[in-house]
Amino acid sequence: MTKDKLKRTDVNELGEFGLIDHLTEKHQLINASSVKGVGDDAAVIENKDFLTVVTTDMLVEGIHFDLMYTPLKHLGYKSVVVNLSDIYAMNAIPKQITVSIAFSNRFSVEALEELYEGIYAACNFYGVDLVGGDTTSSPKGIIISVTAIGQGEKDKITYRNTAKKGDLLCVTGNLGAAYLGLQLLEREKQIYLSNPGVKPDLEDQNYIVGRQLKPEARKDMIELFAKQDLVPTSMIDISDGLASEIFHICKQSGVGAFIEESGVPIHPDAQMLAIKFKLDPITCALSGGEDYELLFTIDPKDVEKVKYLPDIYIMGEITEASEGIKLHTKGGNIHDIKAQGWKHF
Ligand code: ADP
Ligand code: MG
Repeated sequence: MTKDKLKRTDVNELGEFGLIDHLTEKHQLINASSVKGVGDDAAVIENKDFLTVVTTDMLVEGIHFDLMYTPLKHLGYKSVVVNLSDIYAMNAIPKQITVSIAFSNRFSVEALEELYEGIYAACNFYGVDLVGGDTTSSPKGIIISVTAIGQGEKDKITYRNTAKKGDLLCVTGNLGAAYLGLQLLEREKQIYLSNPGVKPDLEDQNYIVGRQLKPEARKDMIELFAKQDLVPTSMIDISDGLASEIFHICKQSGVGAFIEESGVPIHPDAQMLAIKFKLDPITCALSGGEDYELLFTIDPKDVEKVKYLPDIYIMGEITEASEGIKLHTKGGNIHDIKAQGWKHF
């Protein structure tokens, strides 16, 4: 064995996205039906008159969720929603899911029933069928892996790599609240751990806590796009934070972008809680993550189609790659937006 072969590289040197690129960039797709492989919210597969989209996400106890403050029913619901969000981000409709679980002997039948109550609640709400999965044991904790399969029309599937200079940058809902919900729950956990007698005080922050524990995917927006006959020029869902998602669109489309800080929607409860936690609300929106809103671009000729739609905000524009990715602050300054994916390793 040569010396090179003995080299050990820490995965943190590459980061999550660098690692995925590193492991997959040399792989060539050999089947004509594999329309899109690694690199988007979901893979796209030719299927007669339609396209099939497939995505998978894994949630690991202690990394993605903490059962001290996550009810199992909510966890089941959320593990489905995060996958459906990736299907909607392709402008497609989810139809089926598979659910695989690995769990230690700490989990009872009743506990798993609770998890499945949440899974089925999401299936009902979003109109998807649970069609399979796998069940196995783990030495410690629970791991949930959900795969979602959806259907899209050939001329409507929306990728990350098709944004064009001059397109308008839009976002649904509001950003940063899920991250603040996590901060609030973590704070209460620490207080509880140091003094189990103290009752958690979630300060009536139902909205904020709900955004963390029971997110929804924007099915309604995909339906609205169809009704308006609008096909975004690119789209991604916001799972890692606005900054990271803009970075993906810009990198893959070979463009730059600017965002007006005043155009970034932040819920008033999130504004107030951020200030209370001495955090900048815009930083929570840019780097928080888990909002499961949609970030998309539209051709400026379609502006009339979105202008009056509820819960859609135009917050910036696509520029040339050489102009970078910028935030125009309310104070009139211009900052570089830096992507920071999660580092779990
Ligand atoms: P999202 O945040 O939308 O779920 P990810 O950042 O998890 O997307 O994944 C980005 C792309 O990389 C997707 O196309 C996904 O299928 C692919 N991917 C992630 N992990 C792996 C892996 N271990 N092997 C192959 N492809 C992967
Ligand atoms: Mg995604």
